[in-house]
Amino acid sequence: MKKCVYCCRSIEDNRAVDVCDRCGHGVWGPKMFKAIMDNMTNAREKGDLMQGLVNEDLQKSVQDKNFKPSC
Ligand SMILES: [Zn+2]
Repeated sequence: MKKCVYCCRSIEDNRAVDVCDRCGHGVWGPKMFKAIMDNMTNAREKGDLMQGLVNEDLQKSVQDKNFKPSC
């Protein structure tokens, strides 16, 4: 099992983003989070090498929102 990087709750191993729904919704809102998840999942299915960059963007946008990890 992987863990959400923000609250440490367990998440599925095959999840494209290491963030649970609750935290994702809290940071980006449900619509934006779904768009991010879709993008990440599509990128992974294509074996897209840009995924690392997408992850960086994700981290940065979290920092911009001053979201504090709880663990
Ligand atoms: Zn979480």
